[in-house]
Amino acid sequence: MSLPVRHVHVTAVRRVTPRMVRVTFGGEALAGFALAGPDQQVKLYFPKPGRATPVLPEPDGADGDVMRWYAAYSAIPEDERPWMRSYTVRAHDPRRGTIDIDFVLHDGDEGPATRWARAARPGDTLGMFGPSEAFARPVVLGRADWTLLAGDQSALPALGTLVEALPAGQRAVAYIEVPDAAEEQPLIGYGELTVHWLHGEGLLLDAVRAARLPSGTGYAWLAGEAGVVRALRRHLVDERGLDKRSVDFTGYWRRRLSQDDAPTDADLAEARERSAGG
Ligand SMILES: Cc1cc2nc3c(=O)[nH]c(=O)nc-3n(C[C@H](O)[C@H](O)[C@H](O)COP(=O)(O)OP(=O)(O)OC[C@H]3O[C@@H](n4cnc5c(N)ncnc54)[C@H](O)[C@@H]3O)c2cc1C
Repeated sequence: MSLPVRHVHVTAVRRVTPRMVRVTFGGEALAGFALAGPDQQVKLYFPKPGRATPVLPEPDGADGDVMRWYAAYSAIPEDERPWMRSYTVRAHDPRRGTIDIDFVLHDGDEGPATRWARAARPGDTLGMFGPSEAFARPVVLGRADWTLLAGDQSALPALGTLVEALPAGQRAVAYIEVPDAAEEQPLIGYGELTVHWLHGEGLLLDAVRAARLPSGTGYAWLAGEAGVVRALRRHLVDERGLDKRSVDFTGYWRRRLSQDDAPTDADLAEARERSAGG
């Protein structure tokens, strides 16, 4: 089976909110593209300075083996090897053959992905790997009595796809931290959703700690800064008694570290827990 590696071309760019850029990608390579469900992540490859198109290994050379492809990517000389960052497919339009990806223009040191998104123009090209079962666990909604969604602005694109996928009438509560009211977005779906917008930084953990969660069995989906996500998970499992297997959690970014920096011991422990299924 050939690997889902493609070059995708920007067809439109618009600001959804002051700090969120929606980039629409199209191109022949998206023919036959399909999403298996909500919360589908992809790896994007951003060209190094002086290059219009990111250099990527041929997928065919890897014979369908993700690790072999990744080894070939890692072997590209550093000054040519594209930066790799994780993003979420916010929407897919099969009729037009396009996908939307929402990029947060975050504060602090600007990494290559944010820099790219700020300047993105129709015609720009990125590499894309995925969606792939190799790095995405399917989220199953509606098995528990209620759903908790909690994250920061980088989690908002995935959270939006989850809200759209909630079964009709499913009780759900969302805690979403954004810098200010201008960053709120409408969240539309068929669930019985209550959204708590938190304006500022460092508010998510206390807000979830103080939350009156519904009775019955719960499922939680957590994403955002890795340390915050781990603390949220500990709170839900140790203090609220949620079953570990009912908590999906992903550290999306790390304070003061870029996605190029090596994993910390805490990151490795998180990866082990995730692959063990909680
Ligand atoms: C599965 C998955 C899905 C994701 N989906 C999305 C998505 O749809 N949209 C989206 O915008 N992001 C998403 N992210 C997060 C995104 O991958 C990171 O924010 C990434 O680090 C951005 O790359 P960069 O090149 O801008 O910054 P990097 O080079 O990685 O980091 C540079 C600096 O910026 C800081 N930083 C990085 N991200 C943030 C942030 N969000 N807020 C504040 N400071 C930050 C770092 O601490 C570091 O100091 C996702 C992450 C994962 C793992």
